[in-house]
Amino acid sequence: MKLISAIFFLVVFWGLSHAQNLRIGLYAGMSVKEFQLSIASGAYLLTATMPDGHIETLALQTLAQGKFKCNGTFVQFYQGGVLRLEAIQMELLQLAHEDFCNWSVPAISAKTRAYEGSFELRVSKGSLSLVNNIPIETYLEGVVACEGGPGHQKAYYQAQAVISRTYALQNQSRHQKEGFDLCDRVHCQAYLHKRTGSALIDTAVFQTNSIVLLNASGQYYPTFFHANCGGQTCEPQDVWNEKIDGLYTFKDTFCVHTKQATWVKSIPLQTWTNFLSKQYGFPLTDSLSNALLQEFRQPVRSAFYLHPIYGIPMRDLREQFKLKSSFFDAVVVGEEVILYGKGFGHGVGLCQEGAMQMAKKGYTFDQILGFYYPGAKLSEAAE
Ligand SMILES: [Zn+2]
Ligand SMILES: [Zn+2]
Repeated sequence: MKLISAIFFLVVFWGLSHAQNLRIGLYAGMSVKEFQLSIASGAYLLTATMPDGHIETLALQTLAQGKFKCNGTFVQFYQGGVLRLEAIQMELLQLAHEDFCNWSVPAISAKTRAYEGSFELRVSKGSLSLVNNIPIETYLEGVVACEGGPGHQKAYYQAQAVISRTYALQNQSRHQKEGFDLCDRVHCQAYLHKRTGSALIDTAVFQTNSIVLLNASGQYYPTFFHANCGGQTCEPQDVWNEKIDGLYTFKDTFCVHTKQATWVKSIPLQTWTNFLSKQYGFPLTDSLSNALLQEFRQPVRSAFYLHPIYGIPMRDLREQFKLKSSFFDAVVVGEEVILYGKGFGHGVGLCQEGAMQMAKKGYTFDQILGFYYPGAKLSEAAE
């Protein structure tokens, strides 16, 4: 009994000491029938809600292993091939901050993912749903590591932390129907592990604790970002057909000499022109149109290919031919059209490689955010 009281106290205390938790769907969008668990650090308490409503518990010490399976209706927990629990739903409760578990899906890969926080397992549409219940600041350490990658300056990580925090709070109800707040994929924000062991990233998150970006009317700022804008950010309307207050196109010289600044791709001319004529009625037999087709230059971003009169949005070409960006020149050489592109991604909002360069040059995170999100204000998130 003493152990249970101590555990209860720890759980309540832990809950009170962290203002806001998020519930993140892990392995979201995958139909998983079996998870492999190992407790990597600390002890966890597994609680199971039985069909008659009573709760059963199982203490799991460091290095304990087990498998979660589902039989279509119930969540099952196996250890050493023995069925230990079968329940409507289970929770794996973290007892001390920074304890973590390793998860894997043996049917897909032996590769494990480490996560802190607590976990919920239930059956959803015949598969297992795994949700990570975690304080937002700890979640952000994982997100900043996944979205930013290693080897950058602290100011960049601080800027990314503010962006990702703002985005998470703004989009909390995105997966409400599926029973969690945000997914672990790029669809929301990549969250593939708890952290990379980078003290720099953890410090960047901590030093921007609770800070978000707001617009002039006090709403969360639309913190869209992409890998590289190619030297000019993109007008939101040209990408999504709608204006977004606070975001517009401007010149960015910080990213133009970085690794994803340029790309080249060649496409068979026939494939290219077939698409244009079938999709947009481009007049292939018209000599003036054909002359225009030979060479297309985009010194500044254009919403349309060749001329607006043909009604061929650049974003459609990017999507159809899976191009890195819609910011490219196109030249016909023999039986091919060669695309000379700039940038990587949709181009709206903050350019990550530009922001990384700004951090290298000594700009602070608020200067970086001020450059890419004009008119945004830094503010403490409401509790
Ligand atoms: Zn999502
Ligand atoms: Zn840029």
